Amino acid sequence: MSGTYKGSCFCGAVELTVTGEPAAAGYCHCSSCRSWSAAPVNAFSLWKPDAVKITKGAENIGVYHRTENSYRKFCRICGGHLLTDHPGFGLVDVYAATIPTYRHEPKLHVHYGESVLHIKDGLPKMKDMPKEMGGSGVTVPE
Ligand SMILES: [Zn+2]
Ligand SMILES: [Zn+2]
Repeated sequence: MSGTYKGSCFCGAVELTVTGEPAAAGYCHCSSCRSWSAAPVNAFSLWKPDAVKITKGAENIGVYHRTENSYRKFCRICGGHLLTDHPGFGLVDVYAATIPTYRHEPKLHVHYGESVLHIKDGLPKMKDMPKEMGGSGVTVPE
């Protein structure tokens, strides 16, 4: 199944599309996502960079990176969050909430060891990250 899904920032100055299907989707419980987003959990969808297109307002995008593997991008006008580039993974996390027309189908929880909001949905809970993403691959109880 493939389609193109539209999204935008909070004020609409920045618009983007994603096309196809994400490489992975789930929830991140890490303290960095929590602090940056001011929300207990980040619903993520990871895409190949060429699946993500900024269709409007690219000049309004601000970027902040605390680590070399996460370039967090937001709208300079409204402060709304858009996506995070993960150069080390070769993937872009477009927040599920940014692309409401895409049906988020979470497959796992990552960084659950840092969770402050436990979610009992039966999905795998990785202590940090899957092995293939450079993590321990350890799962923890819900
Ligand atoms: Zn905006
Ligand atoms: Zn995170």
